[in-house]
Amino acid sequence: MEASLEKLREEVLHRNPGETEFHQAVTEVLEALEPVVDRHPEYVEHGILRRMCEPERQIIFRVPWVDDSGEVQINRGFRVEFNSALGPYKGGLRFHPSVYLGIIKFLGFEQVYKNALTGMPIGGGKGGSDFNPAGRSDGEVMRFCQSFMTELYRHIGEYTDVPAGDVGVGAREIGYLFGQYKRLTNRFEAGVLTGKGLTWGGSLVRTEATGYGAVMFANSMLGTKGESMDGQKVLISGSGNVAIYAAAKAQSLGATVVTASDSSGYVVDEDGLDLDLLKQIKEVERGRISEYAQRRGGRSRYVEGGSVWDVPGTVAIPSATQNELDDAAARTLIKNGVKAVSEGANMPSTQKATELFLDAGILFGPGKAANAGGVATSALEMQQNASRDSWTFDYTHDRLEAIMADVHDRCMATADEYGAPGNYVVGANIAGFLKVADAMIAQGIV
Ligand code: GLU
Repeated sequence: MEASLEKLREEVLHRNPGETEFHQAVTEVLEALEPVVDRHPEYVEHGILRRMCEPERQIIFRVPWVDDSGEVQINRGFRVEFNSALGPYKGGLRFHPSVYLGIIKFLGFEQVYKNALTGMPIGGGKGGSDFNPAGRSDGEVMRFCQSFMTELYRHIGEYTDVPAGDVGVGAREIGYLFGQYKRLTNRFEAGVLTGKGLTWGGSLVRTEATGYGAVMFANSMLGTKGESMDGQKVLISGSGNVAIYAAAKAQSLGATVVTASDSSGYVVDEDGLDLDLLKQIKEVERGRISEYAQRRGGRSRYVEGGSVWDVPGTVAIPSATQNELDDAAARTLIKNGVKAVSEGANMPSTQKATELFLDAGILFGPGKAANAGGVATSALEMQQNASRDSWTFDYTHDRLEAIMADVHDRCMATADEYGAPGNYVVGANIAGFLKVADAMIAQGIV
């Protein structure tokens, strides 16, 4: 790495001890920015990069709530407002026991570049809690969300910071959070949260958008080689919102999706996943993926533990969580003939795995480009809220498709311009960075 970038990397590591995921995300971006710094030393001179590595604001708060047995529970809540150069902070809330400041900072940092890439007027932020919704009743989840919002409401707003869902936060949680925000502020401020229900300010396509977008991105990457999703054998990890709708879009484009997983194991279904069954188990019953194989009879097998990446396939869409795809998995995928990897989750590939894919010439779409469809559609939801309008499914879908095609083309053109043809990691990071950096220079040292 170039000396000024290496110095900054060391400063960030020293300043944020123990936050390994944040270190990883910063290292990836700084490495990708090397050609920019060579060409434009002014970005270093203005302290742009140093400011970009330090969130504008970090909020940590206590979330007390009472469980069904009457016991007081305490969780920790976070909101990291990372960068507002392009618009109000925008990014999801994650409720998962693994959440700590380092995870939220890595996600917020990634969000800044991702949001810039969408071309929409949104800054970047992220939040969440170490609350584990698994096994909690609706009443417990509601009381937790209400307590969480009782602190968060003073920090957010349609012109300030607009949270949405992420792992562990879906339509149910957004409903409880919105209800409490409305009660506390006495305002029906639809644009304060995205991912809302369709009858109270939500947008069609928002539920499907992240998964759909990741497949659209894969399709565009394959298109550069004269191929498409049609006829591909697709491996998907995870079984949440991103995984389910990635599978749906892949199937509608003529691919066969053969895997899905959760934290206990994975299923293989060589005939292609039965999505109605998967949705019933995961979205309605909130059950485990093992039940899918049981109910599918002999047509699907369940593998306890292990990794979906052991299954041969031509397109991989990691849609579970960070660092789920390591170097061993990357080697197996490459050996088995994978052609494209499109990241549905945030940073699911380790740094080593990413390098292996790039070195092997595999089409590799990093999360900040490939999964930008979710937040892009959140920005479309904000547009609808601002104009008190609601668009049709087809119109919103076409907007999403156009945005994803533009993200793809911009990454490719930027990678070419900076001497790394075909490298979407370099393209995504540089294109996102330039947009934010130029806005920051225009707005002065703030
Ligand atoms: N959590 C999603 C992401 O990682 C969506 C954020 C949003 O819609 O604001 O991009």
